[in-house]
Amino acid sequence: MLNGIGYPLFLHVFSTSHLAHELHGAGLMRKKGAAMKEWAKKFYHSKSWIDTRQAYLISRHYLCERCGEPAKVVHHKKHLSKKNINNPNIALNWDNLEALCQDCHNKEHHAAADTRCYSFDADGNVIAR
Ligand SMILES: [Zn+2]
Ligand SMILES: [Zn+2]
Repeated sequence: MLNGIGYPLFLHVFSTSHLAHELHGAGLMRKKGAAMKEWAKKFYHSKSWIDTRQAYLISRHYLCERCGEPAKVVHHKKHLSKKNINNPNIALNWDNLEALCQDCHNKEHHAAADTRCYSFDADGNVIAR
């Protein structure tokens, strides 16, 4: 009898989280920190990006290039996409980078993406609001 209750409960939990995952993938779930795209995650965690980002921020004295506030984000002027993220001439090219504070970075992206429920963390990664 206990098994008869416990087993379906387990199944229920499993299928609920699976459903949540599916919903999240469709952009319907709003869970903080979970929306970074898989293809971007690999890049943002790569040593080449972390080193490039660090060196660039140092070169800009950790200041926002637009307003002079402390920079939190290294923004890609040509936004990264699944197609160009593995191209070092875009993803790691200092000419394509810009040190920005959180405000300026949000403005930059929201100008083009204000209908989306995304925000950006300190690394410039996309997160759900
Ligand atoms: Zn700024
Ligand atoms: Zn950006």
